Amino acid sequence: MIERSDQDGFTDFINQLNGGLNNVELEFRRAQDELNGTPVMALTNTNGQKIAQVATGYTPTELEYFKHLLDAIVMADDEMFCISSTAALHEAGRLKNKENKPLALTKREAENLLDRYIADQWFIRSKAGAYSLSMRTLLELQTYLKETYGDQIQECTLCMEIITKGQRCSVAACSSRLHQHCSSTYFRNMNNPKCPTCHTAWSSKVLIGLSDGASAPSKVRKRAARRENGAAGGEEDDAEGSGRNQDDA
Ligand SMILES: [Zn+2]
Ligand SMILES: [Zn+2]
Repeated sequence: MIERSDQDGFTDFINQLNGGLNNVELEFRRAQDELNGTPVMALTNTNGQKIAQVATGYTPTELEYFKHLLDAIVMADDEMFCISSTAALHEAGRLKNKENKPLALTKREAENLLDRYIADQWFIRSKAGAYSLSMRTLLELQTYLKETYGDQIQECTLCMEIITKGQRCSVAACSSRLHQHCSSTYFRNMNNPKCPTCHTAWSSKVLIGLSDGASAPSKVRKRAARRENGAAGGEEDDAEGSGRNQDDA
């Protein structure tokens, strides 16, 4: 569970606690909410393979749907890191069991499950109905996300935490990605903001992920299909490059 903590001087206590938790592959992690910069904290599993243990309370089918949604969100084209509700329901129709037989999940069941994932704080649903990763998922499933998706999971250039919502450098080849709150802090006293990596002028209008008020994309292309027919795709097949401007966000 995520709990808020505004206290500083808390770090020693957390470090001591983590020393003990290390033996059981657990760790307290702190971060700032991607949308509003609020400090959040979570008890997280350091063993990435234990997603099943983290997501207790779900049946194997429900966990499979959960993983499909993670896939679709992380692999969404152009670093959107979100999917529309239509795309989320579509994923429910693509579930297969270990024998590659379709798993029956009705539209109603899928809708109820989506509501449960939201209630359990695994995903965020925007006002316009787009699903994206919550801070709970980013903190508690951090190791799983990095091990499963590799380079598709990016880190903020300033705080080094995972970033799925924020700003990117306008230079397509540059790796700089900044959370909104990291960007405001870093550029606060700069008259001519420059990218911390390539020193190109920083626009702060080139975004990744969805801001809360933005509308859901009607159709989301996937960067690569990881689990299609059991084939391990993984590699990006389309060239990166188009900086996405969201002046209306
Ligand atoms: Zn950051
Ligand atoms: Zn740059």
